Order: sequence, then C-alpha cells, then structure tokens
Amino acid sequence: MITTQSRVTMKNRATRLMEQADILAGYSESQTELTRAYLTPQHRAAHDQLAKWMQSAGLDTWEDSAGNQWGRKPAADPHAPVLILGSHSDTVINAGKYDGNLGVLLAIETLALLREQVFPFHIDVVAFADEEGTRFDTTLIGSAAVAGCFQSGWLDVKDADGVTMAQAMREFGLDPDKAGSDARKPEDTLAYLEVHIEQGPVLEAENLPVGVVTGIAGAKRFQCQVRGEAGHAGTVPVSYRHDALCGAAEMISCIEAFAREHEIVATVGKCDVLPGAVNVIPDDVRFTIDIRSLSQSQLEQCTQQLFSRLENIAHQRQLELDYENLYQAPAVLCDETLQQQWASAVETVTRKPPRFLPSGAGHDALAMAELTSVGMLFVRCEKGISHHPAEQVTAEDVEVALACLAEMVTGFDAGH
Ligand SMILES: [Zn+2]
Repeated sequence: MITTQSRVTMKNRATRLMEQADILAGYSESQTELTRAYLTPQHRAAHDQLAKWMQSAGLDTWEDSAGNQWGRKPAADPHAPVLILGSHSDTVINAGKYDGNLGVLLAIETLALLREQVFPFHIDVVAFADEEGTRFDTTLIGSAAVAGCFQSGWLDVKDADGVTMAQAMREFGLDPDKAGSDARKPEDTLAYLEVHIEQGPVLEAENLPVGVVTGIAGAKRFQCQVRGEAGHAGTVPVSYRHDALCGAAEMISCIEAFAREHEIVATVGKCDVLPGAVNVIPDDVRFTIDIRSLSQSQLEQCTQQLFSRLENIAHQRQLELDYENLYQAPAVLCDETLQQQWASAVETVTRKPPRFLPSGAGHDALAMAELTSVGMLFVRCEKGISHHPAEQVTAEDVEVALACLAEMVTGFDAGH
C-alpha cells in the first residue's frame, strides 16, 4: 500500500519519468521527428542511456544476444526464478514518445522505488530492441529472441538500404550466430508484466487513468482483388455493367456492417482503383482487410463468414473475387490470475473498480506468452492517438501507473 507521504515522492518520480521520456525521444535518426529503429546508432545511444538509469536504480545491467537491454534487481539466491517487467525501446517512423518507452521507464522507476525491498525472486527489466519491425519488416524480434522463437532466417532479411540483419547486428556489436541463443527458460520465469499506453480512446472516454488488459486480439490481413469489366463511362448503361469499384464499395460496406454485428474490428485501409481514369468503368480494384478479435475461434469463424458474404456480392454482380492471406497473429489471453492481481493493484491505488479491456494492437507480451504467463496494464493516452508525434500521457496518470506497478510487484504471488 502506498502511503500519503510516499505520494509526494511518487509525484516527483512521475515528473522525473516524463523528463526521461523527453530525453529518450532525443535519440532519433531525424532532427525533426522521432524515429529509432532496431540496431541503429541512435538505438545504441538510447540503450546506453537506459543502462545508466538502470544502474542508478541499483540494477545490474547487460545486453543480450538480440540487443535487448536488461537490468536486474537480484535475489539473494542466484538460482531464484525471474519476474520480468518491460516493454520496447524502438519506435515507428515519426513516432510518439511513450509507445513502449513508457513501459520501460516505469519498470526502471518501480525498481528504484522498491530498491530497499527484498524479494525471493530476481526482478528483471527489459527494453526490447525491436517490437515495431520498422527496419526489417519483421516485428517482435527482441521479445521473440527472449521467448526462444528467434528464427535464423531473419538474419538474411535486408533493410531499405540493403543491409542484412546479420550485418546490422555486427555493426551494433552483436554476434549474429548467437542471436536468440540466450533465450529464457519457462521453468526459470515467473511471469512477464508490461505497462503500455492504450493506443485507443476507451480509458479517456471513461475518464480512467489505467485499465487491466484481458488479452491481445488475434489478427488476419488479406489482400483482395475484385475484377469486372472496363467500359466507356458514357456508352455502357448502368444495368449492363460489371463495375469492380461498385462491387468493392458494397463489399466494404458489408465488412463494416459485419464487424458491427459480430462486435469485432475489421478495416479496409488500402484501396486501389484501376485503370483509374475519370471516364472508364473500373475493372480491377484491390483492397486490404485487417480483421481482429480477442477470441481465436471467433476470428476464424468470422473470417470464413465474412468471405462467404463477399463472395455472394461478387457472384450477384458477376464479378471475380480473389483474396490472399498476407499475415496472421494468434490471439493471446492475459493470465487470469495476473489480471486479478492487476485489478486489485488498480483498486488499491485508484479506489475505483478496475476496468478490463482488450488490446487491439500487438505487443511484446504476444511473443512472451510463448515463454510464460503475461499480464498487462494500459495507461490512458490523449484522444487515443499513438504512432504519431501527438501521442501524449499526463504525469498524473504516469504516477497512478507507477503506483499500480509497484503494488503489483510488491504483492506478486510467486506461487500463482
Ligand atoms: Zn508499443
């Protein structure tokens, strides 16, 4: 339980953390915006800075084989199991200051706060080196390496400048042959806890500083192509047409209605119209679908049903519909016991009943779930804006999140 007196200190800690977020945002590939990709010199500098802050919090620091930065508050027994706290330190292009970075800083500050306390397990803070996949188009490289899921094929993937991941690792001071070799073992790991900005509008709409994450939605992405018949915009009567764009438009409306009906999310984020002339009936339309659900079985079912509806539309309009699955990530549920522990931490700190909410975005916890049970806490962000320079959290909310994480770690039941 956080006392009134330590509240003052908590406020100072939250202010310091906001300043640290500003400092971290200075490690960028661009003068005018924040971009910090995996294995770049700016990433090295950010990790060096994080290591200093970890050391100031009394932690032992090291870097692992994939470039993740670690800090440990050791238990007396060197063979004790490990509780891992963390998030990621890389960013998207033209990013905000808090995505990932806030979770890393909160974890360090929590261990600074609990410096004098003794735990029967090691507590590690990790700054995952790649979550966003900005440089190599492969996401969650850092957490996958820790969870034992690093794929050696990734080493050959090239960035936009033709530099392979292996080469970039060497330049960063890593040995690519060893990447992923120091993965953690499930039997040595108690759990993974992550605090992250919500990246959505729910907490703000309900006037809540934090929320307990129930799970991370599974996602599927498709590339669709609708083919019809081109023709003269002036001479072909509407009833004779096989207009690919009108068909695609009906499909897109159907996707929205279907998502609403089934309480999932589905998005058409890209749409190209060919031949793309003002006076030609479109005969080729390509669009993407991103569909997500917290329940894997619902995701599978909905995807099937949705495509049968789209095929119906194509059939009625005598159009051809083709689609290809570009990507899929399975849904991951947060550990039930950890959710309850977060809930009681939130209740203790805020004196309000906890709000449970799913995560529509992917996180390091997705990869870490392969290793251990995962628990996440969301922090309100302004207007739900993220992956954008306007991303903003308040020092007051950071203070609440810090108190919650400290409660969570202090009350962590190693036998859960
Ligand atoms: Zn993130």
